[in-house]
Amino acid sequence: MAQKIIRRFKCPSCAGENTLRKTRSRNSKEKLLQLVAFLNNYKCRKCGWRGWKINITIDAKAVKKIVVYLFLVVIAAFVVYNLLKLVV
Ligand SMILES: [Zn+2]
Repeated sequence: MAQKIIRRFKCPSCAGENTLRKTRSRNSKEKLLQLVAFLNNYKCRKCGWRGWKINITIDAKAVKKIVVYLFLVVIAAFVVYNLLKLVV
């Protein structure tokens, strides 16, 4: 029997299965979180719970996220380095 890899998220509030639905980000802060932290916003259809769940799947999208994340880290390091140079 072939094993299917299905991600089943249980609702942390009502423990309902398959009730969580991915929701769109409401603002730029949530969009940024989704982009850099592998988090997805979920909402429970049963009890209305809303929250974040980590979502790490290595696909083209994830690789893109990692690249963006590393890019941000490099920029942050560069900015901090130059700021320190100015101070000292
Ligand atoms: Zn629920």
